[in-house]
Amino acid sequence: MAQTGPNYAYFEGKIVPIAEAKLSVMTHALHYGTGAFGGVRAYWNDEEEELFIFRPLDHFKRILNSGKILLMDLPYTPESMLQILLDLLRKENYRGENVYIRPLIYKSTPVIGVRLHDLDDDFTMFAQPFGSYIPNEEGAKVTVSAWRRIDDNVIPARGKITGAYANSALIKTDASLKGYDEALVLDHNGHISEGSAENFFMVRDGVVITPPISGNILEGITRRSVIQLIQEQMNLDVQVREIDRTEVFVADEAFFCGTGVQVIAIAEVDHRKVGDGTMGPVVRQVRELYHAVVRGKLPQYRDWNVPVYRAETEAIS
Ligand code: PMP
Repeated sequence: MAQTGPNYAYFEGKIVPIAEAKLSVMTHALHYGTGAFGGVRAYWNDEEEELFIFRPLDHFKRILNSGKILLMDLPYTPESMLQILLDLLRKENYRGENVYIRPLIYKSTPVIGVRLHDLDDDFTMFAQPFGSYIPNEEGAKVTVSAWRRIDDNVIPARGKITGAYANSALIKTDASLKGYDEALVLDHNGHISEGSAENFFMVRDGVVITPPISGNILEGITRRSVIQLIQEQMNLDVQVREIDRTEVFVADEAFFCGTGVQVIAIAEVDHRKVGDGTMGPVVRQVRELYHAVVRGKLPQYRDWNVPVYRAETEAIS
C-alpha cells in the first residue's frame, strides 16, 4: 500500500500539519545527538475494525527513562504521551493498515556548546503507515559486524539515544553493502549483544537463550514480550546469559525481534547455516504468537493492546 502519511505531527505542544513541524538548523540535538527516540507499532485488526497500539505505556516509560539519562526535564507522563498519541492517530484516521509511530525527545535550544545541562527539552511525535523493515523475514542472511556495540559507559544502549544510532548506522550499512540483511554486533568483551536495531535470541537443544540487559543492549519491549510468550505459551525455558560468537554457528535456530523487524528468522550467519538454514519450529511459533498478540487476538494479553477508535466512541457515548 502506498504511504499516505504522516499528515500531522505533535510539535511544540500541539498537533500541527506535518509541513509545519520544522526545527532550526541550530537545534542542539541535531549537532550533538542529544535526543532519544522510540518506535511503536499499531496494528489493524480486520474483524474488530480497530487499530491496536502495542504496549504504548511501556514505550513511553522507556523514552522518559532515556530523558532521565540525558538530564531532561519534560512535563509529560507515559499516560499524557499516550493521550497525545490517541489524539494524533484519530486525527490521521488510519484504517485498514498498520502504523509505525515515532516519538522523539530532544534538546531543543538553538545554541552551540556540548553539554546536557541548561538546555530546553521538547517532545515531538508522528505516525505513518509501515510494512516490513527487513524484506527477508523468514530467512535473513546475517554477518557478525566488525563494528563493536557501544558500551554503557560510552553511550548507554538502554537509552535509545539519537547520537548512539551512528553506531547502528555504521553496522547496518556495512552489512547491507556486503549483501547481508542484518548484522550481529559484539560488545567489548566479544559477546553477542544484539542486531543494529533489534534484540537477538537463539535456540539450543530446546532452550531459548538471549543476552542480558546488562550486556549493552536496548531493553527491548518486543524482547520482554517474546520471553513471556515463550515461557507461558510454549512451555520452554528461557535462559538470559552471555552468548559467544561461535555459539550462533552451532545453534538450532536464531531470530531477531523488535518493534520494527517484528520477529524474523535468521537463516545464515557468515555463510554458516543456522540449523538446516530454514525457519525452525520455535521461531515459527514465536512469529505466529507475536503477530496474533499485537493484533489483540490472544485474550490473556489484551492489556498490551490499546484500541484507538473504540475508546473514543466509548468516551462519547
Ligand atoms: N535494539 C535496538 C538497538 C533497537 O534500536 C531496537 C528497536 N527499538 C530494539 C533492540 C528492539 O526494541 P523494541 O522491541 O523495544 O522495539
